[in-house]
Amino acid sequence: MKAELRRRPLWQTELANSVTSPAELLRMLDLDPEQIAGDDIRGNFPLRVPRGYVRRMARGDINDPLLRQVLPVREETVQTPGFGPDPLQELKNMPEPGLLHKYHGRALLTVTGACAIHCRYCFRRHFPYSEANPGAGDWQSVIRYLCRHTDINELILSGGDPLSLSNQRLVRFSEQLGEIPHLQILRIHTRMPVVLPERIEQHLLEWLDHLRLKAVVVIHCNHANEINDEVADALSRLANAGATLLNQSVLLKGINDTGTDLARLSEVLFATGVLPYYLHQLDHVAGAAHLEVDDRTACTLMDELHAVLPGYLVPRLVREEPGKPGKTLLWPTAR
Ligand SMILES: *Cc1c(COP(=O)(O)O)cnc(C)c1O
Ligand code: SF4
Repeated sequence: MKAELRRRPLWQTELANSVTSPAELLRMLDLDPEQIAGDDIRGNFPLRVPRGYVRRMARGDINDPLLRQVLPVREETVQTPGFGPDPLQELKNMPEPGLLHKYHGRALLTVTGACAIHCRYCFRRHFPYSEANPGAGDWQSVIRYLCRHTDINELILSGGDPLSLSNQRLVRFSEQLGEIPHLQILRIHTRMPVVLPERIEQHLLEWLDHLRLKAVVVIHCNHANEINDEVADALSRLANAGATLLNQSVLLKGINDTGTDLARLSEVLFATGVLPYYLHQLDHVAGAAHLEVDDRTACTLMDELHAVLPGYLVPRLVREEPGKPGKTLLWPTAR
């Protein structure tokens, strides 16, 4: 290994070694690359998946729920009415580059477009990060906005994946945030603990431990098979550093759309110290229509969860709708 590679943190090496070729991915899983046409349709959202995540996939199963989250498939090219590039009209709610302020008390900042994994259902798959990004770590206009808006007590770091940023940049930015007196909570929406648990290393944990703001980490796990010993270990280290751990999932056809899968997800999450928060209905982003579960089926699944799980393990079924004061709750249906 070259000297410069050795100096790199392990997680960055893992990230750089991610699988980006559908044919290679299928060969690793003993599947025939000819079986699926992936290479020609990945377009501007190419396949990307860390090797540690691939090792959690079952071999020889084209319907593996982890594989299905990352493998580009022909259905993505189908145009579906109502599915567009910016389903949440986020670009309309951006008072500063990258900053979304739609809900009372909290604002959401996309700090990077980079992710460790590319999820085929992602509602930001067409997001113009080059326009929406606050640039090379210069969040001055965002800081000024937060200072002016004394009603904002929580900043949500989103992306992309905010933990794609180096520890150094996280430290520098959070120091500035720490000086804003009305800001109390730093929420981090990240898929890293699940897809690249190596990212939860000592320096990151020290940063969390010393943060003035209360840290909430919302992981993004869609299936119990995503949680292996390394992930469980990363999660317990986050909890030990003082972070409150919550999970959000996206309801995905053919991936996690059974009561059994969802109940097992909640139980496995709980065993690793994470409470379920949201179960999202898919955002209507172009290229993801084939993964949508209709609301009726989704509510039936919620009934099933309600019948077998304690209340604190039942996630809230929601949809993100433009112009609403918060996420729209879809279940229970009676009002
Ligand atoms: C989802 C979202 C939030 C967070 O909403 P919670 O209900 O607090 O989880 C905040 N801002 C924006 C723009 C969002 O899309
Ligand atoms: S933003 Fe989240 S859901 Fe979208 S590709 Fe990145 S990790 Fe996946």
